[in-house]
Amino acid sequence: MDDTINRDGLLRISLMGGAARAFLMETTCMAEEARRLHSLSKTATAALGRTLTAASAMGVMLKDESQSVTASVQGDGPLGTVLAVAKPDGSVKGYVANPDVELPRRGNKLDVGAAVGRNGKLTVVKDLRMKDPYVGQVALVSGEIAEDFAMYFTASEQIPSLVSLGVLVSSRVEAAGGLIIQMMPGAGEAEIKSVENSAGMFMNISGVMQEYHLHGALEQLLTHLEPEVLEEIHPRYRCDCSRERVEKMLITLGEEEIRDMIRTQHGAEVNCHFCNKGYRFTEQELFELLRSATSREDA
Ligand code: ZN
Repeated sequence: MDDTINRDGLLRISLMGGAARAFLMETTCMAEEARRLHSLSKTATAALGRTLTAASAMGVMLKDESQSVTASVQGDGPLGTVLAVAKPDGSVKGYVANPDVELPRRGNKLDVGAAVGRNGKLTVVKDLRMKDPYVGQVALVSGEIAEDFAMYFTASEQIPSLVSLGVLVSSRVEAAGGLIIQMMPGAGEAEIKSVENSAGMFMNISGVMQEYHLHGALEQLLTHLEPEVLEEIHPRYRCDCSRERVEKMLITLGEEEIRDMIRTQHGAEVNCHFCNKGYRFTEQELFELLRSATSREDA
């Protein structure tokens, strides 16, 4: 972004001597980049911003740099699927099926729950570079995203977790952030209580980020839980699409499909779902793809 300093950051934190761990995130520029790339409505900005923020932390939870995680929220509301992909460096990309949908506010809040829909599922696919990906799924709790991710961690991964996600939007993203606290196996009753009792102060995470930013938020929100910062990461919105990848995708569509494009459109225009970049292919280029596709089949 041109006129704003990018303060986005993610802190990986140990709490109470290792009884819990936390991921504290400032993701204002990440959410604004998503809004700008997809021309998102305010409600869609909040839904995707929250999902990207949670996904970013899940990316950082991965062990190996070749791995990735995809979180998709599929509710029965008008936004349709909200999807985010994250990598271990915290970088993310994502989209909303219907980016224009705007709903009336509920009180002074964007009605993300109604826009996503309260009936549906949250699916997490982790590509761990093994034979089969790991897939976890839970029914949506509210479509508000944070509660849905908390349910996913707690029910599907069996890690009791508290999740707060927030995006403050005017004509652009004013502030965005998140906090995920997860109890570790050795946690005792007293430590679980300490986290539960603090839940109320974690709710307005975007407001805290707007006022204090990442390190100030750490002080404001977690000091009483004896935080020890283990790592600071700078997550970004980043799409890794390229002409080469789009060519591969076209080839996987198969000979018939490519011949059909040549016949009916005399070329092809492919837009990346994640950044809306357009890739144009002339009739001639499609014929060349066809040749490499068929020679591959012969091999
Ligand atoms: Zn792209």
